[in-house]
Amino acid sequence: MIDSTIRDPLYRELDRWHAAGRVARLWLRDDDAIEPTPALDRLLAETKIYGIPITLAVIPAFTDEALVARLADEAHVNVAVHGWAHHNHANSDKKKQELGGPRLEETILGELYEGFLTLQKLHPTRFLTMLVPPWNRIDKALIPKLPALGFQSLSTYGRSKGENALAILNSHIDLMDWHGTRGGRPMVDLIGELVVELQDRFEGRNEPIGILGHHLVHDAAAWDFLAKLFGATAGHPGVEWASAAALLQDQISTS
Ligand SMILES: [Zn+2]
Repeated sequence: MIDSTIRDPLYRELDRWHAAGRVARLWLRDDDAIEPTPALDRLLAETKIYGIPITLAVIPAFTDEALVARLADEAHVNVAVHGWAHHNHANSDKKKQELGGPRLEETILGELYEGFLTLQKLHPTRFLTMLVPPWNRIDKALIPKLPALGFQSLSTYGRSKGENALAILNSHIDLMDWHGTRGGRPMVDLIGELVVELQDRFEGRNEPIGILGHHLVHDAAAWDFLAKLFGATAGHPGVEWASAAALLQDQISTS
C-alpha cells in the first residue's frame, strides 16, 4: 500500500474534487515500444488489473507483426506514432531531436507519413492519429503540416501552450530521472507533482493530466510507483483514468 505520508496529500486533493462533484482525468502514455518484451508484459498486466487504458507510443521503423500479435487480446491499449526511427538528427550542441534539426522538412514529413501508414496498417483497430515526438520535441514549423499527413493530435510534455493546428494531449509527470539516477524518481516527488497538477486543474485548466512511462527502462522504483498510483486511484470517485481516444473525442466535441 502507498505510504500514508504520500497518500494523504493525494487523497486530500481527490476528496476535494469529489466533494465538489468533479472528477479529475488522468491518462497513461508509455513510450518506445517496438516488440513484445517481459517489461511490456508487466506493463500490460498491471494496467489490465486496474482497468487503466494505456497509449503505447510505438516506433514505426522497427516494429512489426510480433507486437500486433502480443496486443491482440489487450483491449485497453491504443497505439500512437512515436516519430519514425527515434534517431537523433540534431547538431551535437543541441538537444536530441528527430523531428527538426538540419534535415529537409520534406524528409522529416515523408518519414512521419511512412510511420503513420505503417502503424495504421499494423494496428487498424487501436491506432490513434496521434504523433508523439521522440524526446517530446518537434520543430514548431512542422506542426501546421501534420494534419495533411493524417495526424489529428499531438502529445508532448508539459502544460499545453495552446497550439491549435491539432488537438493536444500532453504528458505532465515523467516517472524517470533521466539526468540523475536514470531510474524511477522518488515517489514523494512524483505524488507532489501530481497534487500540483490536480490543484491547477481544479482552478480551471481544462487539460487531462498525463503520466509518462518508459517500460523498457523502468526499475523497481518506477514499477512500484505505477502499482501504488493505480491502487490508490482506481477506486477513488474523485478521479478517473481515461483512454486517449476518449479524451480526444471530448476535446473535439467541446471545441
Ligand atoms: Zn521515445
